[in-house]
Amino acid sequence: MPIGNTAIVGAGIAGLTAALALARHGIRSEIFEQAEALNEVGAGLQVSPNASRILGELGVLDTLSSVWLEPEDVRLVSGRSLRQIASVPCGSFARERWGAPYGTLHRATLQKALLTAVERNPRCRIHLGKRVKADAATALGKVMGSLPELIIAADGVWSDLRSAVPASGAVRFSGNVAWRFTVPEAQAPGILSRSSVTAFLGPSAHMVCYPLKEASVFNIVAITAGGSASHSWSSAGSEAQRAILRRHFSGWNDTLTSLLDRAEQATFWPLYEVAPGNWHNGRDLVLIGDAAHAMPPFAAQGAAMAIEDAFELAGALASGPVPQALDIFAERRKPRIARLQQRATFNRFAYHARGPIRLGRDMVLSLRPPQSLAADMDWIYGYRAIG
Ligand SMILES: Cc1cc2nc3c(=O)[nH]c(=O)nc-3n(C[C@H](O)[C@H](O)[C@H](O)COP(=O)(O)OP(=O)(O)OC[C@H]3O[C@@H](n4cnc5c(N)ncnc54)[C@H](O)[C@@H]3O)c2cc1C
Repeated sequence: MPIGNTAIVGAGIAGLTAALALARHGIRSEIFEQAEALNEVGAGLQVSPNASRILGELGVLDTLSSVWLEPEDVRLVSGRSLRQIASVPCGSFARERWGAPYGTLHRATLQKALLTAVERNPRCRIHLGKRVKADAATALGKVMGSLPELIIAADGVWSDLRSAVPASGAVRFSGNVAWRFTVPEAQAPGILSRSSVTAFLGPSAHMVCYPLKEASVFNIVAITAGGSASHSWSSAGSEAQRAILRRHFSGWNDTLTSLLDRAEQATFWPLYEVAPGNWHNGRDLVLIGDAAHAMPPFAAQGAAMAIEDAFELAGALASGPVPQALDIFAERRKPRIARLQQRATFNRFAYHARGPIRLGRDMVLSLRPPQSLAADMDWIYGYRAIG
């Protein structure tokens, strides 16, 4: 007997994907989103093949691939000398090796494509301007006509509903902050590649740059160690925080640092993560996406994991009773998320290395051909989620 009434809290990438993935199995859901409208929140996203494959299954990939950029490669470059350290091929190589494309786009483009698909799907219903509290099952039931059999909490890193899952993980500051801004393509310096994702690396800081074709801008994310643990996302950042940013990038190539100086509109994002813990209560509440396991973006996989979670949860719910489905979901997802968190921690160490470790990193990476570095990504990009 398939699950009946399902409520999804949050219309971010996880929540919208969950609604579409459930609908694919004939399961109806209602999404409750606190925002009155889904405006442009966030900035650029890299969508890797493990996630784009699922977006294809859900019927939204064609919309995305008509507007996004498929970069030729992801390059690691020294932020001081601009010497290329390593590169991983993408473009047609990604389609062949991992069976799905690698693309870059604005988060809002992805969210809008998912929202349009949700609005067109008779099995999905969305309620905007509805903030849901941790003990809200009865209130949701009133709107839905009967108590939801399952609440899927896709309410992000600051999840309210997480507190209703016994022994769930706590949210904590990752020790890193991100500055995000865009530069109009016409004003971007020539050292920013129009056809690649470039990660410029330096001691305790790195800067990721890639074009957002649909907006004719470059997306730039500068990530440094330390900084403030303020709770507010998307704030302008204080003068003191900007001074720390400039200090981390001192000694870098002038063209790159001048990008930071020009970034009037930069938003300041202290990066939080969710510690390991329970993701469900065994009965009627489950956490997915950032609500369950937010991680700092050192592997550029947070949204991809939200998409995989949504797809695999729907698959498990379609094949058995809710309590078993929740166990299957957690058993399948936890080892993968833990491995990715380890990869993100390793990347943080490698990207921000200094002194002899940096020299060793550069030597080891420069000896490895792009194809061999691509093979390291097989377990991430080649993953086939069970939906
Ligand atoms: C600098 C940076 C760069 C990144 N780059 C990448 C990348 O390249 N690739 C990648 O895959 N990932 C990347 N990520 C990670 C990615 O952005 C997140 O992991 C992903 O967006 C999480 O999606 P989500 O749906 O779980 O949560 P969110 O996007 O946070 O969505 C949660 C939704 O729930 C709503 N909500 C919250 N509380 C309530 C409530 N009580 N009631 C109702 N609604 C509520 C919110 O309004 C929101 O709409 C990056 C992150 C950062 C910070």
